[in-house]
Amino acid sequence: MKILLINPAIKDKIWAGIPQNCSKDIFLFPPLGLMYMEAYLDKFSHHETKIIDALADNLSCDILKIKIEEFKPDIVGITVLTHNLKSALKTINAVKSVKHSFHLSIGGPHVTAYPKESIMLKHVDSALAGYCEKSFMDLSNAVEQHKNLKDIDGIILKTENGIYINENKQNINLDLLPFPNRIKNNFKKYYTPATQTDKVTTVISSRGCPQRCTFCNTYQKYESRSVNNIVDEIQYCCEIGVKEIYFIDDTFNVTIDRVVSIANEILKRNLKIKWGFKARCDNITAEMLEIIKKAGCVKIHYGVETGSDYGLKQLNKKITLEQIEQTFKLTKNYGIRTIAFFMLGCPHDKTKTDILNTVKFALKIKTDYAVFAIFSPYPDTISYKNAIEKGIIKKDLWMDFILNPNADVLPDTCWEEFFTKDELFKLLKSAHRKFYFRPVYILKTLLNTHSLFEFKKIFIGGISLLKIEFLNKKKKNIL
Ligand code: SF4
Repeated sequence: MKILLINPAIKDKIWAGIPQNCSKDIFLFPPLGLMYMEAYLDKFSHHETKIIDALADNLSCDILKIKIEEFKPDIVGITVLTHNLKSALKTINAVKSVKHSFHLSIGGPHVTAYPKESIMLKHVDSALAGYCEKSFMDLSNAVEQHKNLKDIDGIILKTENGIYINENKQNINLDLLPFPNRIKNNFKKYYTPATQTDKVTTVISSRGCPQRCTFCNTYQKYESRSVNNIVDEIQYCCEIGVKEIYFIDDTFNVTIDRVVSIANEILKRNLKIKWGFKARCDNITAEMLEIIKKAGCVKIHYGVETGSDYGLKQLNKKITLEQIEQTFKLTKNYGIRTIAFFMLGCPHDKTKTDILNTVKFALKIKTDYAVFAIFSPYPDTISYKNAIEKGIIKKDLWMDFILNPNADVLPDTCWEEFFTKDELFKLLKSAHRKFYFRPVYILKTLLNTHSLFEFKKIFIGGISLLKIEFLNKKKKNIL
């Protein structure tokens, strides 16, 4: 059977943080979820597979239709994220409008969060919730053999008796998943934030995060691959010419031991690779930084979020400003680049001074890069529940949108208790200005570039900031 996996282009993304027309300038990640499914099918089945990344290749729906007519798939799988629902729906409608017929299945975080609503989307034949590498292969085999689909783990179907859901009970040993094929999916067209080379890829070494920050909807069940398996993948990446890896785990430093063991194994195998990861500001020690630096770690993306101890407590970050300052100082001492994430307009930000304190804190910790985003109460988070309970969000507009993503009703994406959207957008611009438009900062950043490629990326990042500066705030979907 021919199986086509599609990453939809994002034209109608709902996003509160970085405006959508700027984010692609800064990063373009490979569609790792689809690549894992493809690798699983390639290893454990006889099916012919192909991924179309409409986002990376900037494909219109018309081009997508032509490509489907050419490939003639028997099954099409499409990733759906809640924020990209409109785009995903356009893709579904487009691909189903071709003459050729096929089974259409959708998966991804949106399906996991909203299984019933997902299966009711027009043209969708089945949906798969949870991690579904094996389920998708089981689905492909069952469709080929005209078997009943009801036994497949995580499957959601429309039946004569209503919606059928088979819970995803799979407990896959992550070490058994084949590595994504980065040659077949040309890793060179992707890039990550603050990257130093043009041969970069992403790796995921664990799934989930055991913490429960109030604004985050990541899976709480934490699972890690073994150190050997992770470094085997790094080694494979080195062999195909990758020069830099960005670990996109929700939290890479859940334990210090794991990070140190990975670094030790990289050193033992003498792998020449630069790498970086997303981290909490705790679980960072001088010993750990020393060894990861030796093993090639060049950057750490820290989730700082806000600039007051009161705020950190409200967000359930279980960390203090003092610890954060210490972490940034230590990281800089070891010459590892820091990128700090902040949210402006959190539920505890009652005055402009509160927000400005977050910007001041970004300056105080002397982070190399700061990413400012507007706080957004996303569905399936504690903040979202609080927002509905407190009446900040008058109605569950996300659910209205999810039920009818074609309608011109956009969900609330800001916490508007103390500020309007316009005020928050102005404060976002001001934060960028205060942080980035400092002559000393610009000079230092340019002097610290490691390659022409990095210089080019910084230049494009600068243009993105200017785009935000001159963006028409009344444009839809910006906030
Ligand atoms: S914000 Fe980070 S630390 Fe908090 S729950 Fe999410 S992934 Fe975990």
